[in-house]
Amino acid sequence: QQITTDMETLTKEVERFAQNKKLEIESLKGQEMYRKEFLGNVSHELKTPLFTVQGYIETLLDGAMNDKAVRKNYLQRAGKGVDRLIHIIKDLDMISKLEAGNLAIEPKRFNIIELVQNTMDQLEMKAEKKNIQLTFDIIYKDSIFVKADPERIQQVLLNLMVNSIKYGKYGGTTEVSIEDLIKNKVIIRVTDNGEGIQKENIQRLFERFYRVDKTGSRKEGGSGLGLSIVKHIMDAHGEKIYVESQIGIGSEFSFTLEKAK
Ligand code: ADP
Repeated sequence: QQITTDMETLTKEVERFAQNKKLEIESLKGQEMYRKEFLGNVSHELKTPLFTVQGYIETLLDGAMNDKAVRKNYLQRAGKGVDRLIHIIKDLDMISKLEAGNLAIEPKRFNIIELVQNTMDQLEMKAEKKNIQLTFDIIYKDSIFVKADPERIQQVLLNLMVNSIKYGKYGGTTEVSIEDLIKNKVIIRVTDNGEGIQKENIQRLFERFYRVDKTGSRKEGGSGLGLSIVKHIMDAHGEKIYVESQIGIGSEFSFTLEKAK
């Protein structure tokens, strides 16, 4: 009887050990796949603007340089390609720091209304180009203090607002609003009346490099990293981000922040 029980225990131990090893191997395989996919995505994202810049330089050297107007135009386009490369590299840098936990969140007490206004000022030109009206729905107060990392929260706001302009319709609107909740939280909403996002894509939006319309978004520039940066920043703050969207009607991204005393 004793031997049978011992054997049973031993068999169970061995099975458990094998199961743990299997899980370990699967996890390593997953990490390896993830790494490969990540590298593939990065080189793909960098390739497009690099080839654009290379194309303009080659055409200039092939003779286009002799015409003053063409020269200026091609140099400007090449410059835009370089800007895009810098943008992608900055996003990559940010995401790798956030994922490695190397980007400390430094919470401070600051006025979120001022930060929103400041961010809107930065985007005025971008919105104007698409004839999009930027509005800020907060008329009854001039300060709401929150406790968060102002630099990172500005990044969140910028990413959300740039998206609402990018995927907003020509002549549309982007509205930011702040709801001061009775409890210790505020909700900040960025709403557009643009193309909207299909339900099945909503849960994937925060994945790295994920884009709903691969061709459309690429035309609009960007790295496909904006929303995953946003999610990381909100997670690091221990706060939530929500998305509501309807095709043809528009999208609303909202996030919570802690009120400061
Ligand atoms: P991207 O650099 O492509 O803009 P993001 O991570 O910021 O990357 O966004 C991922 C994708 O989510 C976008 O490519 C777009 O398809 C979709 N998206 C984001 N914001 C909006 C929005 N306000 N309206 C419609 N689609 C959006």
